[in-house]
Amino acid sequence: MSGLYIHIPFCKQACSYCDFYFITRQQHKQDFVDELVEEIQAKKDTRFTDEPVRTIYFGGGTPSLLSPGQVEDVLDAIHQVFDVQTEEITLEMNPDDVSKDYLRGLKLAGITRASMGVQSFNADLLDFMHRAHTADEALKCLEILEASKFEVFTVDLIYGNPGQSLNTLEHDLDTLLQFNPPHVSAYSLTVEPDTRLGKQVKLGRIAPPENDTVADHFDLVTEKLSAHGINQYEVSNFARSGSEAVHNSNYWNHENYLGLGPGAHSFWWNEDRKSANRWSNKADIKAYLKKAHETPYELERLNLPNLAEERLMLRLRTKKGVSRKVLKSLYKFEFSSAQINYLQKMEQEGKVMVDENIRLTPKGLKIADAILLDLVTAK
Ligand code: SF4
Repeated sequence: MSGLYIHIPFCKQACSYCDFYFITRQQHKQDFVDELVEEIQAKKDTRFTDEPVRTIYFGGGTPSLLSPGQVEDVLDAIHQVFDVQTEEITLEMNPDDVSKDYLRGLKLAGITRASMGVQSFNADLLDFMHRAHTADEALKCLEILEASKFEVFTVDLIYGNPGQSLNTLEHDLDTLLQFNPPHVSAYSLTVEPDTRLGKQVKLGRIAPPENDTVADHFDLVTEKLSAHGINQYEVSNFARSGSEAVHNSNYWNHENYLGLGPGAHSFWWNEDRKSANRWSNKADIKAYLKKAHETPYELERLNLPNLAEERLMLRLRTKKGVSRKVLKSLYKFEFSSAQINYLQKMEQEGKVMVDENIRLTPKGLKIADAILLDLVTAK
């Protein structure tokens, strides 16, 4: 089964850390929805409709800048073209767009899972991140969500902000936990070069937080959430048992997915399951409206060794880890002796556990990116 990702590229303003594709002008919104419907219709009777669709994910950008009617038009088009057997239809929303009526409209349109981009309840941090919503709106949207029919929801938080204290983070977590979220995504702020934050760091106006501070934040997040039964199942994702995100798991499991909308990425296995392609739509709304989506952009052909490495990187970020049996049978992959030595060293240091699956321990997950890089480059 496959997943559909739909990129909605509109935002009210640019958050200081964001390097996703978005535009702050809104005038082409309806033209965009019309073109998106055409892009979906163009997939009719192609190989992308051979397997049923298990998850649909509206990401962005800010999907909550679409009206429920526009979301419904997109979902109607999907139902006409694909064999939809969805377990989950998620829409990302920003707190300042949420109202009782809006959530009701989305539910009627077919959205089953709300993803709320809260990031923080602290006014200074929201200001620093240049978020469009206020601390009041962050709180209000969860109250509205609690009173709505969305039992399945997730909330995004960001930690590791320059100057963010452990107390502020604890307050954010305590506030969030009052709403009993079934799922939380908590991201450490990353400084991307082509963002406002990246430029400020480069000019020396802002110092990124020390690694030790970020590690303390990470510990606080995992401890607090797990004390409330919301357990880490991937480096940045936490859930009550049974509430893990299906769509993201598809990515980690190397399932096929199709991206629609400007800047959306796709991944599809070739029929022989010995290679796959990854490509994107050009991240340019004007080009998109002129049908640039008809031509795959940045097409990358992946052979089994590339895919094995990717599987390793993706799965080792999850609590379950990577199965050696699957690596061998599906990817014909064997670890080199340098990699085996490295894994043994990490095991002795208590950062990796090796049995049928190879997985990172809590100590290892904290420095997952460094371990993964060392593992794939071990010589
Ligand atoms: S709302 Fe989301 S996509 Fe838009 S600028 Fe902010 S972080 Fe980026």
